Amino acid sequence: MDTCKVCGNDEFYKGRLGSGTTSLRPLNKIMGSSFMILTFCSKCGEVSSIKVENPGKFS
Ligand SMILES: [Zn+2]
Repeated sequence: MDTCKVCGNDEFYKGRLGSGTTSLRPLNKIMGSSFMILTFCSKCGEVSSIKVENPGKFS
C-alpha cells in the first residue's frame, strides 16, 4: 500500500471524475469517452493516482 507523499497517511479513497460532458474524450475520434478514477489521500486530499476507467474506448 502506498503512503501519501505529502502527509504520510496510508489510507486512500477512490472517486470517479467526470460526467457526460467532462469525461475524458479521444482527440481524434468523435465517439467514445471514459471517466477517470482518482485515488486520493483520506487526510489531506493529495491525489496519488489518476486512472482512465475504460482505456479501450480510445483504441
Ligand atoms: Zn495526505
